[in-house]
Amino acid sequence: MKIETKAVHAGDRKRDPAKPGAFIPVTTPIYTAASYIYENTAQLDRVLGREEEGFCYSRYDNPTNTALEELMTSLENGHGALACSSGMTAIHIALLAALNDRRKSILAASALYGATTSLLCKVLEPIGIETHFVNICDLEKVREKIDTAKPGCILMETVSNPLLRVGEMDRIAELAHAAGAALVVDNTFATPLLVRPLELGANMVVHSVTKFLAGHGDVLGGIIVSDKEHHTVTRNLCRTIGPVLGPFESYLTMRGIKTLALRMERHCANACRVASWLSSHPRVSKVHYLADPAHPDAAVIRRLLPEGLYGAIVTFELKDAGREEMFRFMDRLNLVVRATSLGDVHSLVLYPVIASHRDVAPKQRERMGIHDGLIRLCVGIEAVDDIIADLDQALAIG
Ligand code: PLP
Repeated sequence: MKIETKAVHAGDRKRDPAKPGAFIPVTTPIYTAASYIYENTAQLDRVLGREEEGFCYSRYDNPTNTALEELMTSLENGHGALACSSGMTAIHIALLAALNDRRKSILAASALYGATTSLLCKVLEPIGIETHFVNICDLEKVREKIDTAKPGCILMETVSNPLLRVGEMDRIAELAHAAGAALVVDNTFATPLLVRPLELGANMVVHSVTKFLAGHGDVLGGIIVSDKEHHTVTRNLCRTIGPVLGPFESYLTMRGIKTLALRMERHCANACRVASWLSSHPRVSKVHYLADPAHPDAAVIRRLLPEGLYGAIVTFELKDAGREEMFRFMDRLNLVVRATSLGDVHSLVLYPVIASHRDVAPKQRERMGIHDGLIRLCVGIEAVDDIIADLDQALAIG
């Protein structure tokens, strides 16, 4: 089945285990029970011993989460999934699973979401897991670093934040496997509609479901979709650590995913229009967007992404603008929301200097290309003319 169909159907319409034969709910209910009982103790024993399928305790698994996990496994073409309480938890558990029986060393893309860099440097480094950083878009450098650092795991994002760089994931997967390392990919920006990392050789794909998957700004969650080897490890870690998503969030995420394809198509079409409008605006000095033929990774984008679906994120720079001008521009927006997220149905702007890259030293930020005049826009699914009109009036005053 095509991904649009799977998004609507996968995971749903399970017979209620408590009422066999009675009815089948068309959408998965929210199971709030923390634990489950059986007709007799022998059956509970078999379920606890994993000899028989079933649910016994919601830290292990929960029917609502299982439905979401089946849905995401289907969309990402994986072996199995683990729904987590946030995107950060998903990344943390995926890294622990990747390093389970490998060298405790990570090779990470130098451009990563800020909290992911903090996880590597402030949480994992102090407990003996070293991280080396590399420009993931420079395949030669990646090869060299794999040779010298001998990582147990490589961590990258499909599309980097906020400058939208795209690495050659399939070739990096080949290099990783040849060196005995696992490849973990954060696919939050792309979603499985644009790129499916497991099909390109990744071992685990993680998402902040808070973003496009849930899609409505009302869920905090994450998910790991894994190949066979790593799925077992993540589920075992889950039983002990308990990083699970709540069933209500799971339900909302499934509801959101049913319209993922429709939303992404609209997000992408709107973003294309906004990017091209911004490119010709006299106050805008640079626009970063994946559809741009002059994008530094244009050849990789053409190879790995479907034509016409270039994502919702448009990052742009205002000419000679410092913080004051940027604050003024943001404060004048009426429709576009100023918030630290992305992937919601409404358009959002984020100023990296005060948000995602706040903790990066100004000089280092400049070296990374994150200037004071740079802003990240996640284009929503509103009427595109209204989005452009709002940007236009906010840009009208210097
Ligand atoms: N990965 C990416 C690319 C993100 O943008 C974010 C959050 O913005 C995360 C992971 C973390 O997700 P969460 O906030 O759900 O923990």
